[in-house]
Amino acid sequence: RASAATVVAAVEALAATVDENVDELGRLDSVAGDGDHGIGMQRGSTAALRAARRAADAGAGAQTTLTRAADAWADKAGGTSGALWGVILRAVAADLGDTGTPDAAAVAAGVAAGSRGVTDYGKAELGDKTMVDALIPFSETLTRGVTDGAGLADAWASAAVAATDAAQATAGLLPRKGRARTHGEHAVGTPDPGAISLALLVTAVGRILA
Ligand code: ADP
Ligand code: MG
Ligand code: MG
Repeated sequence: RASAATVVAAVEALAATVDENVDELGRLDSVAGDGDHGIGMQRGSTAALRAARRAADAGAGAQTTLTRAADAWADKAGGTSGALWGVILRAVAADLGDTGTPDAAAVAAGVAAGSRGVTDYGKAELGDKTMVDALIPFSETLTRGVTDGAGLADAWASAAVAATDAAQATAGLLPRKGRARTHGEHAVGTPDPGAISLALLVTAVGRILA
């Protein structure tokens, strides 16, 4: 049960962080996209939190609790990013298991599977100015830290810094995927909203793990 409670605490942190940043994420998405990134992330994370609480209250383990959250997020968010957050959270869940305490290697493997799932699903590559530009450095830094023997909290904290730096660096890129590509030139100078939200969310989860 301890790890289902950790999953609920992590999803609470995701939803609270989206709530705090909903206007800013919408503003970033309105520069070259359709302006709904804040509201879509809010619909998804709110539904995910409700589903995670319901599962944990019914006695589900970590894997089931996070899978329910992932499905609710993808179902309720609408938009590209909602489907992709469903892919990420489902992949992390699959490596958690429902019993025992998941180790750092399992979490890093789940994040790596989520990163591959996002690129398989959305076909974006590094440099296309999407959430992939934050997710790949996040996953690679996490895996490297865990492989080098760091604990999960330390490896995650370094990975969150890498994601934040990479998300900010998307400001210089021209979008080549998603809605933003049709108004690409307007987006230069503004970071990608999906990369920024990913960095904010992994940073928030890092505070839970610390
Ligand atoms: P929508 O674009 O459907 O309105 P959102 O506004 O919620 O959805 O999300 C936009 C974000 O989704 C973008 O900033 C980008 O990070 C991400 N995104 C869009 N298309 C892709 C893709 N093919 N692969 C990865 N991420 C993508
Ligand atoms: Mg949008
Ligand atoms: Mg949209």
